[in-house]
Amino acid sequence: MSAISSQASSIILFGPPGAGKGTQAVRISQTTGKPQISTGDMLREAVRAGTDLGNEAKGYMDRGLLVPDSIIIGLISERLKRSDASGGVLFDGFPRTIAQAEELSSIAEVSMVIMIQVPDEDIVERIVGRRMDPETGDIYHIKFRPAPSEILPRLIQRKDDNEETVRSRLNAYHQQTKPLSDWYHKLSEKTNLRVISVDGRGSIDEVAESINLELEVF
Ligand code: AMP
Repeated sequence: MSAISSQASSIILFGPPGAGKGTQAVRISQTTGKPQISTGDMLREAVRAGTDLGNEAKGYMDRGLLVPDSIIIGLISERLKRSDASGGVLFDGFPRTIAQAEELSSIAEVSMVIMIQVPDEDIVERIVGRRMDPETGDIYHIKFRPAPSEILPRLIQRKDDNEETVRSRLNAYHQQTKPLSDWYHKLSEKTNLRVISVDGRGSIDEVAESINLELEVF
């Protein structure tokens, strides 16, 4: 896979909340050598650290709304200045609006968009049952991926992984993020950008395998 890591361009992992972007991002990052940049993780870190940015973002996140573009673009621009980003990165959960995508196209080269498709009716069950191991960052699910009994006591649930907030996150996805799908498809007609769709309903390994097949020709 060394041919992949020598590419300087970036990959976008796109999909609704709960599609498995974070889980697949860890694997894609290992395969390609591109660091994972998750705006959701960066925002949660800022909230934990209690920075001004974190305090401002928290109100939006708790309500399942998108954080304003200006905050997100500032975060991404800073992150891309770090040396590990010079060979291209894997964007996870970014861009989420057309304004973010337009801004991104002026600061980084994107060669592939991987769209993970999961129907709405599966999303709520996926997200509400999601749990995380804070020590390793591993993601489990009470029904689909139960954690080993020894780590059960330390599992946590994200504050925004409740049904009410999920419905609002899904609404934000349909209103503000989904239109990016057409935007990237149109861009791919006039550039070398590759847009691929993957069925996100299989097991973690099955979805990873479909993505890997696409990465081999990346
Ligand atoms: P995630 O972990 O990607 O599901 O993101 C959690 C929350 O962080 C989202 O519901 C938004 O409130 C916020 N967020 C993360 N990434 C973005 C983004 N690119 N644009 C706007 N808000 C974001």
